[in-house]
Amino acid sequence: MKKDLICNECGHEWTMKPDKDGLFNGYGCPPCPSCYSGCGVSPNDYGDFKCLWCGHEFRRYGNGGLHLGMIPKCPDCSGPCDEV
Ligand SMILES: [Zn+2]
Ligand SMILES: [Zn+2]
Repeated sequence: MKKDLICNECGHEWTMKPDKDGLFNGYGCPPCPSCYSGCGVSPNDYGDFKCLWCGHEFRRYGNGGLHLGMIPKCPDCSGPCDEV
């Protein structure tokens, strides 16, 4: 079953039902129950990317900006990446 939330720091996934306002305990992005430093975002905001320079593949929070063509840089070599 697909989880509702994924941590933007550690990648922990969990399920939490939003209330009638679409908030989680009053948060739009609830604190991560695993690492406590990240917060939960929609897995739909995540994408898989591959570096065009070194081939490094990684999973990265795209902050919804993916739809606007905002592709993150490679965490290893700062090279350009493509969504895979
Ligand atoms: Zn976390
Ligand atoms: Zn790279």
